[in-house]
Amino acid sequence: MESSNDYLMISALQHYAFCSRQFALIHLEQAWEENRFTAEGRLLHERVDSGTSEQRGKLRSERGVLLVSNQHQIKGKMDLLEIEKLADDSLRYFPVEYKRGKPKTADWDRVQVCAQALCIEEMRNTRVTEGAIWYWEVRKRELVVIDDTLRANTLAMITGAQAIWASAKTPAPIADESRCRACSLIDICQPEAFRKDHSQQYVTDLFSKESVINDDL
Ligand code: SF4
Repeated sequence: MESSNDYLMISALQHYAFCSRQFALIHLEQAWEENRFTAEGRLLHERVDSGTSEQRGKLRSERGVLLVSNQHQIKGKMDLLEIEKLADDSLRYFPVEYKRGKPKTADWDRVQVCAQALCIEEMRNTRVTEGAIWYWEVRKRELVVIDDTLRANTLAMITGAQAIWASAKTPAPIADESRCRACSLIDICQPEAFRKDHSQQYVTDLFSKESVINDDL
C-alpha cells in the first residue's frame, strides 16, 4: 500500500473481526447483501454524520470527523469526537461510535473505536485512553477503555486485514457455524457447500494416500 487511497477503511475492521472471509467478500469481491439490520445501521450513520460541530461549555462535539493514520495505513470517518477542555487547559479526546445493535462480548466493535483512537493520537499529537459506543437497540453508551490489550488486538486485526487485501485471496469459511447463521452474507458465501466440498476432498486425499502406502508395501 503506497497512497492513502489504498489505506484500509476503519469500518472494514468490524467485518474482519467478525470473519476474515466476510471482510474479503465485501472489500475484495465487492459482495454486499443489504438486510434489515445493515439498512438500519446505514440509516443510523447517515443521521449522525452531519459534519457539524457544537460547543457547550468546555465540551466541543465534532460530527463526521475524517480520520487517517499514515503509520498504520488506515482511514475513515468517525461519528462523533468529543473534546473536553480540562482544568489544566489540556484537551481530552473521546471518540464515540454509533451502532444499531447491542453490546457484544467480543471486541468486534471496540477495535473500531480503538482504530479511531490511533488516528486521533497521530493527527492531534495526543493520547486517547477512553471512548464509547452508543447502541441504538438498547439506547445505551458502553465505555471503551483503550488499554494495551485492545491496542494489540486492534493492531493484529489491521495487519491481518491488510495481508488479505494485499494477497487478493478470499479465505475459506470459518469453523464457527453459529456465526455463519448470523451473517448477512451467508447466501453469497455458501459456507456449507464449501465445507462439503472440502470434506469430500479430504476423503479423496486420504484414500489416495492410503493407496500410495499400500502400493509401497
Ligand atoms: S457465512 Fe460464515 S464463513 Fe461466510 S462470510 Fe459469513 S461468517 Fe464468514
